[in-house]
Amino acid sequence: MSRFDMEGAINFIREGDDFLIVSHVQPDGDAVSSLLAAALVVRSLGKRCTTAIADRVPPKLMFLPGSDLIRNARTEEPPGRLYSRVIAVDCADFSRMGMAANWIGDDARLLNIDHHPTNDGFGDVTLIRPEAAATAEILHELVTAMGVRWTKPLAECIYTGILTDTGGFRYTNATPASLRIASEMMEHGASGSRIAEHLLERVSLAHVILLKKALATLSFTEGNRIGWVTVTRSDMEEANAQSEDLEGLVNYPRNIEGVEVGILFKEVDENKVKVSLRSAGAVDVAAFAKSFGGGGHVRAAGITLHMPLQEAVETVVGGLRGLMA
Ligand code: 5GP
Ligand code: MN
Repeated sequence: MSRFDMEGAINFIREGDDFLIVSHVQPDGDAVSSLLAAALVVRSLGKRCTTAIADRVPPKLMFLPGSDLIRNARTEEPPGRLYSRVIAVDCADFSRMGMAANWIGDDARLLNIDHHPTNDGFGDVTLIRPEAAATAEILHELVTAMGVRWTKPLAECIYTGILTDTGGFRYTNATPASLRIASEMMEHGASGSRIAEHLLERVSLAHVILLKKALATLSFTEGNRIGWVTVTRSDMEEANAQSEDLEGLVNYPRNIEGVEVGILFKEVDENKVKVSLRSAGAVDVAAFAKSFGGGGHVRAAGITLHMPLQEAVETVVGGLRGLMA
């Protein structure tokens, strides 16, 4: 079976009439945009769908049309009747959907649309393209293949997913195709400047307070090849911050001249740490993350470790140091 089964994906959507569309916990721009684009495709065919994410949608993404309808599967009880036809977007493995999995019936059929090279191929039909800069690019291809009519909301979703996953068209994953699709989306009504203002320019006050605290923890290995910052639970409380306020912090160590891997350690609780890894290119952080049960992309990956903060720092920095020696 092909990992990129467009015919299977189209049949999967045409055959169903009531879908659950889910994406990953701590959703980013591509997760929410791809989920909303998939919902617009399904609804354009006159079919019903429910959208759910096991977290709240970050306020900065609430300008996206339909974002207010996304159910929070972390705080809401699963519905009485579980879903039997599911589309998962931007999820590299089943567990990435977190508690949204509780909304899925045992005998459900699942379509897996994703661009993570570490995707484990879960589900009955897969539409996986690691060359795509964003899952939203795959949604663009699906819309085109199905002949769904372009609308401004659909165009804005696709544009947003590509903009956010390429860091504003700056990362190496941005290809000529990414820019061509973005250009096409502007022709269909997407406002590039409005979307960039929401997502690249504006920052929350909590983010700036966290940045101050995080930079005070900035540390390096000798030669500055690995740089990292830490954020504790009390930092989060004092800044009145949500997890989305952490976005972009990992780029500060990563962007420093000479740093090959930048890391953010976020203390979730006493024995749980979320690790964000960013590589300047030489080190494959996806492979490293995978060896700890995490995953992601060559230059951007994540891990959740069940240990105290200090131990997590020693484990990850020590492991990377061995790898880079
Ligand atoms: P971030 O550090 O921004 O949370 O994640 C960076 C990249 O790694 C994203 O593409 C994200 O989907 C992926 N990622 C983060 N944490 C995990 C994880 O625990 N498992 C997997 N498979 N991927 C992750
Ligand atoms: Mn993505």
